[in-house]
Amino acid sequence: MSATILIVEDETRLGDILEEYLRRENYRVERAKDGARALELWRAAKPDLILLDLMLPIIDGFEVARKVRAESSTPIIMLTARDEELDKLLGLGLGADDYVVKPYSPREVVARVKAVLRRASGVLMPSEIYRIGTLEVDIHSFVVRCGGEVVALTTSEVKLLAVLAKTPGHVRQRAELLAATGDSDRYADERTVDAHVKNVRRKLGACGEMLETVRGMGYRLRV
Ligand code: CA
Repeated sequence: MSATILIVEDETRLGDILEEYLRRENYRVERAKDGARALELWRAAKPDLILLDLMLPIIDGFEVARKVRAESSTPIIMLTARDEELDKLLGLGLGADDYVVKPYSPREVVARVKAVLRRASGVLMPSEIYRIGTLEVDIHSFVVRCGGEVVALTTSEVKLLAVLAKTPGHVRQRAELLAATGDSDRYADERTVDAHVKNVRRKLGACGEMLETVRGMGYRLRV
């Protein structure tokens, strides 16, 4: 049972190298060279993870990520060319699960793929459901519901929310939340946590109000 990785990269050579490295690790690989094809393949092949370049023909990576996130929690690792793109990414809060800045080593990309898939599988997490008011966080299936409606969050966002949901009413510090998300420490800092919280709050809709900022301390879920 090998996972399927969708590589979205318009530069053939870069895509070829990633494909070769991933196949060596026994992953199945699908390839798309533009954003429109990427969305078609995402629907058709149902990949377990998407490696997504940002600058793409027809539909760019930002838009692809937005469309995927609107409907699912399929893990996404963004391949960005510049630090400015990374800033834009974090600012937009598209919910990528990880980021790799070019030029990257294919070995590192494969390591990130493994880490994100491991995180997404939730193997290490206990099977538990936390309920606070109308909010429900299912750690086992990584499903979050507000008022019975499924909310599409990234795996990092679910993990962050789970920490808060385990101890409703208690303030959790940013550092603690950051550790829980398992985000790569290369780019992640407290700003990453703030960005996650902002996105989670927005995505939760009516339940978003429960997520409180405690100035100078961290965050908590109001009971
Ligand atoms: Ca490109």
